[in-house]
Amino acid sequence: MAKTFAINAGSSSLKFQLFQMPEEEVIAKGLVERIGIGNSIFSIEYGDDQEFEMTEDIDDHGRAVELLFDKLQEFGIVDDLEEITGVGHRVVAGGEDFKESTVVTDAVIERVDELSEFAPLHNPAEAQVMRVFQEKLSNATMVAVFDTSFHTTMPAVNYVYSLPYEYYEDFQARKYGAHGTSHQFVANRAAELVGKPIEELKIITCHLGNGGSITAVDGGKSVDTSMGFTPLAGITMGTRTGDIDPSLIPFLMDKLGIDDVNEMINIFNKKSGLLGISGVSSDMRDVEGAAGEGNERAQLALDIFANRVQKYIGQYIAVMNGVDVIVFTAGIGENSSTTRHRIMDPISVFGALLDPERNDTRKEALISSDDSDVLIYNIPTNEEVAIAREVERLK
Ligand code: ADP
Repeated sequence: MAKTFAINAGSSSLKFQLFQMPEEEVIAKGLVERIGIGNSIFSIEYGDDQEFEMTEDIDDHGRAVELLFDKLQEFGIVDDLEEITGVGHRVVAGGEDFKESTVVTDAVIERVDELSEFAPLHNPAEAQVMRVFQEKLSNATMVAVFDTSFHTTMPAVNYVYSLPYEYYEDFQARKYGAHGTSHQFVANRAAELVGKPIEELKIITCHLGNGGSITAVDGGKSVDTSMGFTPLAGITMGTRTGDIDPSLIPFLMDKLGIDDVNEMINIFNKKSGLLGISGVSSDMRDVEGAAGEGNERAQLALDIFANRVQKYIGQYIAVMNGVDVIVFTAGIGENSSTTRHRIMDPISVFGALLDPERNDTRKEALISSDDSDVLIYNIPTNEEVAIAREVERLK
């Protein structure tokens, strides 16, 4: 009865899914929120639609994991913790070190911690959670799965910024990208659906969730991606700016009377994007709803969102000198047929044509028309399954 965890730790949260392997059946999933903030919420779903939620102060990730283990046993989800033979941890920043998923050792945890300067909100929490699991499930195989690994195949021409080159050499200041697990998962699935080896395909994957990124996958390898040194770059997101001119930083700090540059970056990360433009919400459903009721700024937010995705699709057709497949995935990409239409309809010049009826879906499907030169797919992503598979692969 091998069970494997997929763990996704943030600075104040811990998301988990427990799989029965190799069947890949989800036997429990849930979330601990507001860790270290007070009034923390622990919620879990398991069995046949059974749910449990409780609120108590959870001071740190160690306590969150303890509570999780208690509840797994109390609800009979596992009889013995020894049944959990694998744990996969999502790690946001792997820098240039981690080109693929890696079995966790003390040295790996230390390096993940050191890479915190590339992801200050995530890596420290991820390192801490790995230590807790290492202590409590010492017999399980633990694997770190990095958001950045898939993009380590990018050529220098796409990851080196037009800055003094020493900044790359001395400080590894370069493009790393993110969402690699998702881009890789849907690109491989697309190749399966097309029925051709991925090595023969040029694929553009559009991961459109709260965070969003576009990747050019040439022959199965990421050759360019829209996020940058951090996830702030690229397309317009729920609350992130995407690409902007850095000269806005001193200009806006002066106008807003802000002294600390981190406060400005915080506004770019948390108050911008769909939320900032629309003034309504960071959530695409709310923005679409408001636009439908005639809110002009919400409509502008939708138009800007589509426009930025279109520009990256255009760029990546140029980067790969062609495209065979375009994939939409994640919350918005999978569920919003209107967003997909808003993106693809004005760029028919590339020969990628949606079929209106096929596009009216939220499931895995071919959504391009029969006369389209480019195949367009809707493919639900599943980063958790991808993480659990990596654990099995490295066991
Ligand atoms: P995260 O990056 O947090 O994992 P998700 O991939 O879950 O985010 O995506 C969340 C986004 O998906 C939100 O903007 C949400 O509004 C959007 N979304 C989910 N369902 C729909 C839907 N039916 N129509 C439009 N947008 C949707």
